[in-house]
Amino acid sequence: MQDQSFNPFHMAQAQFDHVADLLELDKSARQLLRNPMREYHFNIPVRMDGGAVEVFRGFRVQHNDARGPGKGGIRFHPQETINTVRALAMWMTWKCAVVDIPLGGSKGGVICDPHNLSAREQEQLCRGWVRQVARDVGPLADVPAPDVMTSAQHMLWMLDEYETIHGAKYPGFITGKPVGMGGSLGRREATGYGVIYTVREALRELDLQPQNTLASVQGFGNVSQYAIELFNEMGGKVICVSCWDQDDQTSYTFRKNSGIVLEELRSITDHFGGISKDRAKDLGYEVLPGEAWLEQEADILMPAAIENQITKDNVEKIHSRVRIIAEGANGPTTPEADQVIHKRNIFLIPDFLANAGGVTCSYFEQVQSNINYFWEKEDVLGRLDTKMTAAFQAVSEMAKKRNLYMREAAYVISVNRVAQACKDRGWI
Ligand code: NAD
Repeated sequence: MQDQSFNPFHMAQAQFDHVADLLELDKSARQLLRNPMREYHFNIPVRMDGGAVEVFRGFRVQHNDARGPGKGGIRFHPQETINTVRALAMWMTWKCAVVDIPLGGSKGGVICDPHNLSAREQEQLCRGWVRQVARDVGPLADVPAPDVMTSAQHMLWMLDEYETIHGAKYPGFITGKPVGMGGSLGRREATGYGVIYTVREALRELDLQPQNTLASVQGFGNVSQYAIELFNEMGGKVICVSCWDQDDQTSYTFRKNSGIVLEELRSITDHFGGISKDRAKDLGYEVLPGEAWLEQEADILMPAAIENQITKDNVEKIHSRVRIIAEGANGPTTPEADQVIHKRNIFLIPDFLANAGGVTCSYFEQVQSNINYFWEKEDVLGRLDTKMTAAFQAVSEMAKKRNLYMREAAYVISVNRVAQACKDRGWI
């Protein structure tokens, strides 16, 4: 259950205020960037399978589009709140800016629980969402994508409704489409590979060879599995992964000191990213408590599961060998824990840089859809590497130049780019 007293938008604003001070932003820039440019709140009536009409609450928040059309997912969640959507839209603005793609930040949502909706009801909800904002989103204005509990199928229903309303084909209206229906090759790998492109650059800075390094990972889902795949290809060894057990409603860490074998674990993983304990034991894995991943004698930690995992209560357990933390997940580190990591001089690759491979590839999908020509997978991943590497280097140089922590440096670059775009347009 979500803590109702926690307001993520206040947290996003506090982070922004801190960076605005560092950048000595003027009052107008602060006023403009502290709040979304626009937001839409609307009702979506859906005729349910039983015949009655139920009304759902939907949102789209466009935080800032000075650098290009808004970009951001649509979440279906029973505890969705406007403040969560506002915070996520602001974070999208910074994420797109840090990787220097010509997009702004948006986010959307519907208060609903898709588990309790039939496929037909979900389709009506998707079509209803688009009908409410069809004039305010679009390939040149604001481009949605899948997020929590929304899928490629939801995106196709939304695309179909948008094209029906506007009377033409607009595949660049939405991303996260299946390959063959306007989706991009490489999207599956993009976030995890992106994490490792940044890890590779951090290792270079610290003069460490990947083949001499050990990593410990939290999560065994989309981000984590592809991060492990590329890290292994570079010669690195992952000694454990931690994931959630649906049956026991707790998490476990699976360790093999000789290095986990990705294919072996994939073959005993359910589609929620949970690993079978018994079968892992048979394959020679030690099964440890969920938090054990954090305490390992490793060079690199990769939290790639969910938010709020490295906290003031466990941060001191991080082993003295750890040199790099790459945040594959969004918000895995609480502000108190972050201070400890900073003090210990661990090289942090902050979430909105480390996991920006996903949105960068969505941007590539948008570009391919708009020109109606699709690139080979190698092309997509090569371009992704170029973007992620350039973004990492810009942040790292800023950190050195101004003696900043990597998270602060990433924020300084993003906020500065967005504020500059607003100034250049004559908005402030
Ligand atoms: P996923 O659902 O595919 O996998 C999540 C994994 O985390 C699963 O293995 C699950 O068992 C594990 N997990 C959940 N709760 C846990 C817990 N308490 N302890 C240990 N393990 C736990 O999700 P994903 O797409 O890999 O996303 C992971 C994170 O990365 C999320 O924070 C997401 O917002 C972020 N992210 C994902 C993408 C993307 O493209 N998939 C892009 C940017 C950011």
